[in-house]
Amino acid sequence: MASPGATFGNGTIIMYRTHTCGELRIADKGKKVTLAGWVQKTRRLGGMTFIDLRDRYGITQLVVDASDAALQETVSALGREFVIQAEGEVIERQSKNAKMDTGEVEIRLESVTVLNKSVTPPFTIEEVSDGGEDLRAKYRYLDLRRPPLQRALALRHRLAQEVRGYLDRNGFMEIETPYLIKSTPEGARDFVVPSRMNPGQFYALPQSPQTFKQLLMVAGYDRYFQIVRCFRDEDLRADRQPEFTQIDCEMSFVEQEDVLNMFEGMMREMFRNALGVEIPSPLPRMTWYEAMDSYGSDKPDVRFGMKIHEVTELVKGHGFSVFDSAAYVGAIAVPGCAEYTRKQTDELTEWVKRPQVGAKGLVYVKCLADGTFKSSVDKFYSQQDLSSIAEGVSAREGDLILLLCGPKRKTQTQLGVLRIEMGGRLGFRDPKVFAPLWIVDFPLLEWSEEDGRFYAMHHPFTAPKPEHEQWFYSDRKEDLERVCANAYDFVLNGTELGGGSIRIHNAEMQKRMFEVLGIGEEEAEYKFGFIINAFKFGAPPHGGLAFGFDRVCALFGGQETIRDYIAFPKNNQGRDVMIDSPSCIDASQLDELHLDIRKQQ
Ligand code: ASP
Repeated sequence: MASPGATFGNGTIIMYRTHTCGELRIADKGKKVTLAGWVQKTRRLGGMTFIDLRDRYGITQLVVDASDAALQETVSALGREFVIQAEGEVIERQSKNAKMDTGEVEIRLESVTVLNKSVTPPFTIEEVSDGGEDLRAKYRYLDLRRPPLQRALALRHRLAQEVRGYLDRNGFMEIETPYLIKSTPEGARDFVVPSRMNPGQFYALPQSPQTFKQLLMVAGYDRYFQIVRCFRDEDLRADRQPEFTQIDCEMSFVEQEDVLNMFEGMMREMFRNALGVEIPSPLPRMTWYEAMDSYGSDKPDVRFGMKIHEVTELVKGHGFSVFDSAAYVGAIAVPGCAEYTRKQTDELTEWVKRPQVGAKGLVYVKCLADGTFKSSVDKFYSQQDLSSIAEGVSAREGDLILLLCGPKRKTQTQLGVLRIEMGGRLGFRDPKVFAPLWIVDFPLLEWSEEDGRFYAMHHPFTAPKPEHEQWFYSDRKEDLERVCANAYDFVLNGTELGGGSIRIHNAEMQKRMFEVLGIGEEEAEYKFGFIINAFKFGAPPHGGLAFGFDRVCALFGGQETIRDYIAFPKNNQGRDVMIDSPSCIDASQLDELHLDIRKQQ
């Protein structure tokens, strides 16, 4: 890392520091240097004082000779996180530290200037801190001094530069779209902002720039991108943030194939340049139907097999009424678990019954090493029957077959959750292994039993596949359910990192879409009139996608949680505990906004 302290582009020399704390090596021995940074710790040893000086580039050890009484006294007053400037000579260390980049050298101190004092920090600012999550969130600016967070944000920065470089080279223009807008079509709850100048009216914050990027295509910009904040007022499940960042893109005159090629190229460069990892070319593709049937998920983790197999017909007719009456029976073969004890299979049964999984029960078949089988339903199935089940799920000796039953998609989803759990328990989900793929051919529509209506699986601007258009204009529910969309998701290691679609670009088809979704003409006009209208003025065929940038960063960093990759995130209650927000506002401010707050019950 070049020293930011030496010279700037215009030749100015800055004297605060000659080097960073991560820069000096044995080749610098003998140099007179000036460093600036934070005191990580000081310790006395045999009359000498050692100081670890830290900045974002690393740590350098400073040493004060026992003989220098005046300097000894100055440094004895240094506390943790004091900001100092230190001058001295680079010398070779007696006891080298191979774990540190600067571990072969130290600075024999000649003078120290305290640039600023610090009160004692509430937790240790080291690789691993002793502070709890809440405390660290409150003092986020101190937590951000820690190397893991600095590495995370450096990775985020790197990835953002890769994205910009790649898209710029491919003719994309970075164009900003407004934050104070009208409701967008992503289907979550909007955050709203009251308008002072328009009493009783509200802006919505964008759930994505979807409509604007389509309008940019109508406007002829051809290739657009933006690394942009999106806002969705959802209940914050484990790893969501109310504001998050997308790499949002749109292209004109393209078909699905063009979009997939362009963006797998971008991902390939990001993997190569940020991680030195080569991903397959071309990337594997899987239809939504195959993903659901074989992995029980539209975001399959394909780092490991353990696929789902349907055994409905195989298990019927043996007197086991649960299976006899089931619409669907599916199974996975878990390798090497045939020796599970009763206690372990009981625990698994309880596990699948948890509300998060929702299965009613679990049947197992153990494929023992001697070629025989042992199952929880031995009463109904002979060794021969169990052997054909094992064959049906491609199980091998030593495998534990787990079976669930119920309605087809629901059961597949449960098996998918169980598969991920078992894959995790068996260590098949190594975060350093990357298995990206595209999921394609999503159904266009999703029927909601509860509401008795269709919802757009992606969003209402997604086009049906041209070969399915005749069903799209049919009034039969079965036909509409069959329509596939020109939609695609980029999936990595069991996480959806991005998704998009080829859009509807003619006003007639868009009208039909709103009709299918039960959005009346008036409502469509009120919510999306501007885009329906724009489509009347020569909208080009277009399509695009968006990646969840925070999640891209976390997965590239080998972490499951996005919070470390966002400088100032919110907690699970949507609060920023550092600035204490959200908070109440003054009565005068409410007045100006024409708002009354209802009394809390
Ligand atoms: N706007 C979509 C989303 O946020 C992405 C896209 O279709 O481009 O999911």
